[in-house]
This record gives sequence, C-alpha cells and structure tokens, in this order.
Amino acid sequence: MQNELFSRIPEYLPLGLIIYNTQGRVRYANNAALKMFGVEINDILDLNIFDDPNITDHDKALLKQGIDVSFETDYDFDRCRAEFAKTSTIVERKYFVTKVTIMRDETGEAKGYLLNCEDVTAKKAQQQEVIQSYKKIKATQRELALALEAGNLSSWDYHVKGNVFYKFSAPAEQDEKWSFDTICERIHPHDRARFVKLVDDVVHKIALPKNNIELEVINDQTNSYRHYNFVYSIREDDQGEVVGITFIQRDITEDIKYRQNLIKAKNRAEEADKLKSRFLATMSHEIRTPLNAIVGFSQLLAESAEIDEKNEYKQLIETNSEILLKLIGDILDLSKIEAGSIDINRQPLDLTQLCQELFLSFKQRLNNPKITLRLEDPYAQCTATLDRHRFTQIFTNFVSNAIKYTPSGEIVMGYECAPGRVRFYVKDTGIGIADEKKYRIFSRFEKLDDFAQGTGLGLSICKAIADATGGKIGFESQAGKGSEFWYVGYTEIDYVEKTQTPAIDIPTPAATTDTAILAADVRNLNILVAEDNDSNFLLLKSILKENHLTRALTGAEAVEKGKTQSFDVIFMDLKMPIMDGLTATTLIRKFDLTTPIIALTANAFHKDKAAALAAGCNYFMTKPIKKHELHEFLSKLWIMDQL
Ligand code: ADP
Repeated sequence: MQNELFSRIPEYLPLGLIIYNTQGRVRYANNAALKMFGVEINDILDLNIFDDPNITDHDKALLKQGIDVSFETDYDFDRCRAEFAKTSTIVERKYFVTKVTIMRDETGEAKGYLLNCEDVTAKKAQQQEVIQSYKKIKATQRELALALEAGNLSSWDYHVKGNVFYKFSAPAEQDEKWSFDTICERIHPHDRARFVKLVDDVVHKIALPKNNIELEVINDQTNSYRHYNFVYSIREDDQGEVVGITFIQRDITEDIKYRQNLIKAKNRAEEADKLKSRFLATMSHEIRTPLNAIVGFSQLLAESAEIDEKNEYKQLIETNSEILLKLIGDILDLSKIEAGSIDINRQPLDLTQLCQELFLSFKQRLNNPKITLRLEDPYAQCTATLDRHRFTQIFTNFVSNAIKYTPSGEIVMGYECAPGRVRFYVKDTGIGIADEKKYRIFSRFEKLDDFAQGTGLGLSICKAIADATGGKIGFESQAGKGSEFWYVGYTEIDYVEKTQTPAIDIPTPAATTDTAILAADVRNLNILVAEDNDSNFLLLKSILKENHLTRALTGAEAVEKGKTQSFDVIFMDLKMPIMDGLTATTLIRKFDLTTPIIALTANAFHKDKAAALAAGCNYFMTKPIKKHELHEFLSKLWIMDQL
C-alpha cells in the first residue's frame, strides 16, 4: 500500500516530470508535465528528446556526452506542434525552467533521462511587471529632475528617523545627504526658529500647518541670502506616524523684487496722477490770477484819465505779465526736461559782475521793506565757465523763493570759490521748511504751502539744470528759522580775493565823477583798432562813432600802423591771423611805451589777462563789448590822465 502511494507521488508534484529511455524516447510523464505541454501520454510516448526543437543543439550534445543540462526556455508551441508534439493544445506563450538529468544505476551506467520542468510563466510576467515599473520610476525620476531644473526648483526629503535631509538629484547621481543642523545653519538667522518649529509641528502633528513656508537661505553660487518658497508634503507609515517631509524649493527672489517694483510703480503712478490733478488745479489758479489782473487793469487803464493812476495800472499790468511769462517759461523748461533736451551753453562769465547785476535787479524788485537783501562777494575778480542763462535761472529761483518765504528779516546771496568749483548760496531768515516736508522739495509740482504763489516747478527745474550741468544742488533748513539753498558748479575757475592785490588794476573813477560829462571829453580820439572780424569792428565803430578809427586786419598790420602813425589809444584783438595780438603788442612796446593798449578778447580768464599784461597791454576788456562800458572805460582813462 505504502509502495503504491509512493509510486503515485510524481502525480501530485507541481513540477513536470518526464522520463526518457537511453535512446531518449519518452517513457513516462506525470500529470503536471502533460498539463504543461497540453498533451496526453499516448500522444507523446516514443517522442524523442533529441527531436524537441526547443532544446538547443548544444544542450543535446552535452546530454549525449552524459552531462546534465539546465535551461530556461520561452517555449515555442507553434514550432513544437509543427515538428514535435503535434497534438499540443497550448497556444499561449510559456516560460519553463528545465533540468535534464542523466539517470544512472548503482554502477553508474546511464539508464535514461529525467526532465523536470517548472512553469515560470506567471513569475516571469510578475518579473516583467517589476522591470517595467522600475523603468517607469526611473523615467519619472528623469522627468522630475528635468522639470525641477527647468523650473529652477530643488527637492529635499527629510527623514525623521536619522534627522537628515536628502537633496534629490538626477537618477544617475547619488542624492546629497545633509544633517538637520547643516540645513539650519544655511537658513537666515531671522528665519531659523520658524523653520525648526515648522518641522517639529509637522512631525508631531501639533498643528495643521500651511503647506508652504518662505525662508531666506544662503545661495552657494552668489554666497548671499536669497528668498525661497518651500512647498511640502508629509509621508506617513502604516500607523499614521510622520516618517518624512518632502520639500520643493523655489527661488522667489526675483518674484519678490518684481512684486516690490510693481507696488512701487503702482504707488508712483497713483502719486503722479494726484500730482497731475493738483498741477492742473494750481496752473489754472496761477494763470488766472495774473491774467485777471492784466485784463482788469487794461480796462481800467483805458477808462482812466489820471496820469498817476494810469502809471500805476501800467506797472501792475507789467508785473503780472512778467509773472505770466515766467510761468510759461517754467512750463516750457519742464517740457524740455521731460524730452531730455535741456540745452547747456557754457561760456566764461565774470561772476563778480553778474552777481552784482543780479543783486541790483533783485534789490529793485524787492518791495517788502521788512526784508534786507545783502550780497556777499569776497572776490575782486572771478571768472568761471558756466551757462549764464541757467545760472541766472537757479539764482533767481533761490532768491525769489527766499523773498516769498521770508516775511521779514534778511536774505543773503553770495558765492564761494575753490579750485575747480564754485558754490552759490541764498540764505534767508524766513519760515524755513519742516523736516517731514524736506524730501519733497525738489519734486515736480510740489508746493509745500498751497497759499503762496508758485507752481511748485522752480526747484525741480533747478535740480534738472544741476543734473544736466553735472553740478549739485541742496539746502539746509530749519522750520521757523530760515533756509539756505545752494548750487555747486564744477568748472574752470579763476578768482582773486578782495584782500589780495588784484593782478589787473582796472581804474575806478572817483566817486563824484560824472561819466556823462566825461564821456563828452573822450570824443575825437585817434584810435587804432586791430580786429580781423568785420562785425566786431563795425560794433566798435558804431560805439566809438565820434572818434577817428583806423583798422588793422592783422597783428602785423597793427605794428606797421603803430610805427608810422600816432594814436591816442589802441584796441588790440588778441586772436588774429598772421600775427596775434600778444605778439603785435610786444613788438609795438619796443618802439612805443606810452600809448594805452587795450586787449580785447572773448577769453576772460585770469591767465589770459596776465598774458596780455605781460605782453605790454595796459588794460583788458572782455567781449561782447557794451557801449556804456566802453564809454565809461575811456572816461576812466581820461580821468587818470592817460588819454
Ligand atoms: P514754487 O514755484 O511754488 O515756489 P519751488 O519748486 O520753487 O516752487 O519750491 C517748492 C516749495 O519749496 C515751495 O512751495 C515752498 O514751500 C518750498 N520752499 C522753497 N524755497 C523755500 C524757502 N527759501 N523757504 C521756505 N520754503 C521754501
């Protein structure tokens, strides 16, 4: 009974067993084998193992040599049906792991072959699935790495166990491992505690935190802090314990800057809009006020018969016209500034003279008896290369503001020179400017006091001029005490302080001299004019029309005429063809030491004057020559008995 049971064991085995005789013919196959190959025992009895097309020739050769073989086959049942077990019912693909062993008796003699075969088709399918899944994971990882790189993102994985971070890398690379402390050190000190608390809260599920956090973290490339946004998600184990946190890090530094710039731009646009409305309201008021006066007083002027009244109206119309003109000038200047085409024309300026002129004109206009206006001018002579119009504009604006905002007290205008620069200032003891309003002073349309006359354009135009000339503008002020506005121009400068002996002594007439009378006495002079330029000569000729003028076109001609004729005075242009004025003067001085020679030049610098004096000129006049100056000058020479 037991033997019978034992002999039936192969029928119960899941392994397929086939026994072949020494020739290789099938002698037995268990149930599992018949099922695997889809055959009945009678169909396969006598089939020869050496005819099975699914066993390689190599393995067959080994078997013939008495060597056991093992192999894995992707069993081809179509071929099997065609060439071997013709009745096989199996149509699907099957994978078998097969071993063929030589069966031997006790003496070692071969008695047949035992083939055992395992159907691994299901296992193989699972294996394939695993391989496919693995490939998919790798592909996803590659795509993720690409996406992270394209989005300038990085991913960090925090492992609660071990308290470490892994930085996700491309699939081929090893993920970087960072300790929690190292990560914390890289976070800006003011964000560190927030980050530690976040990790703690998430791990211990204390609170349900938002799923992102913004931190400043050091950037390796720039070695500076940048802003990052971290979006995170948690990983839990089967018991619901948090085992890890995945962070996706994004650099938002540029976003933040962009956001801030947008806010600034929005604020600026809103501010500009408000300013524009205020400007229109101010303009309409500022234009209407003088216009009303002009229209009103023009009517009154037409109706009035009183001469005093008429003069008063005329004066008022003139004043208001000036205000209107200034306003239009400011608006035009502003449009030039907007277009970036503010024109700057530098030329040598006699600052002592210009400041004196400005001072006198301001003084004349000052109609508040409670204010005194003073000029601080410590220079006997000062020449600087500046734009006359723009310089006057700045100074005028400073002084008229000072007059406007000083109910009573003193206004001082002046200038200080240093090598390469000159600083103009206007100080007043007026209402001053409150600290909180100071930053708005140079802004356009900015009026700090709505009741005072003005458009709020003056100082912003001054600032634009200062910028265009490469100069600096500024002020100091104390509310209730007064202000000082200044402008520094960087320029070639030539100055002599009053305490020093002036290099050139231009004579001043005695205080009592009446130049009108004296001018009459400088008629009929015999004058040599060395001047190559026709217009300049004609100008001199018309100014000195009551005198007798001889013209020389070159320095050489002047020397020639100086030698052969006698003159009361010689005007010598310094820049002439063939021979310049300095050489001509030097040559004239060789034979004539007494005739006054007056150098005429467009160069008003001290060094030019010094060169003219060294050559033998007695005096120096700067072009453009003005009629009254020339008459006055000749009168002075006459008083000094030099003519
Ligand atoms: P406005 O033509 O209206 O005077 P500005 O641009 O010249 O315009 O000046 C702007 C503002 O600066 C003025 O409205 C005034 O409030 C203030 N300000 C200018 N100069 C002085 C000063 N010397 N003292 C006090 N406030 C001044």
